[in-house]
Amino acid sequence: KGTHTMAFRQPKIEYKTNTQILKMREAGLVLAEALDEAVAAAQIGVTTAHLDEVFAAVLERHGATSNFKGYHDFPANICASVNDEVVHGFPSEYVLKDGDVLKIDGGAIIDGWHADSARTVIVGTADPEDQRLSDITQEAMWRGIAALAEARFVGQIGDAIDDFVSAVPGKPLGILEDYVGHGIGSEMHQAPDVLNYRTGHRGPRIKPGMCLAIEPMLVRGGLETKVLQDDWTVVTVDGARASQWEHSVAVHMGGIWVLTAHDGGVAGLAPFGVTPSPISS
Ligand code: MG
Ligand code: MG
Repeated sequence: KGTHTMAFRQPKIEYKTNTQILKMREAGLVLAEALDEAVAAAQIGVTTAHLDEVFAAVLERHGATSNFKGYHDFPANICASVNDEVVHGFPSEYVLKDGDVLKIDGGAIIDGWHADSARTVIVGTADPEDQRLSDITQEAMWRGIAALAEARFVGQIGDAIDDFVSAVPGKPLGILEDYVGHGIGSEMHQAPDVLNYRTGHRGPRIKPGMCLAIEPMLVRGGLETKVLQDDWTVVTVDGARASQWEHSVAVHMGGIWVLTAHDGGVAGLAPFGVTPSPISS
């Protein structure tokens, strides 16, 4: 899930050992596979409830559990948010249509260690403006992750995302401010907040053992959002479409490692001159 109020968070940053990060990597690889299968199943005519089943089957196959189901009574394994729904949508009997902008956000737990990742998939034929929205959101995520590799403070992640999005040529896109990334480890949502925009605050110092979920959410319209009567689904007030991309990333003595990418982030980070380093156990 994208968003989290302060009240749900632990106040202190949890620094992970290499052994703990390796457990998170296991959860991250299961999650990557579950998202692969859910994304592949996201076709015209399929319900979002079906995607939830596909995702859950992969977790079960690997002995992982969902960190979404039951979280503050959330009823499903994934969040499936369509078009103007930004985050926290419920999988339902909604039938996917040509051109839908679907965000699938999921998580997995192995031996108590969490991973959290989200992707945007455009069903059928993409409106070019929606494709651009998703592409720029995905690049914003990778730029945020690349910034983490070099940065001294958590605030530099949001600076990098904001600087990139603000400078994209063509129609401007908005960075949602109501929902942000977070620390992750023995809980899905931990300190610190990882903002997706420039604030002038440098935030906590980046240290080995820090694991962060970096998850920019961009919109084609205004930044105002509201929560629907189901108390979960977040939509844009003006009905503009939204995109979300998310990875969980570890900082360790040898560098950074993208826990929820099959290749550890090698391909995604290459354009920015960053080479992720796995932990050797
Ligand atoms: Mg998430
Ligand atoms: Mg998250």
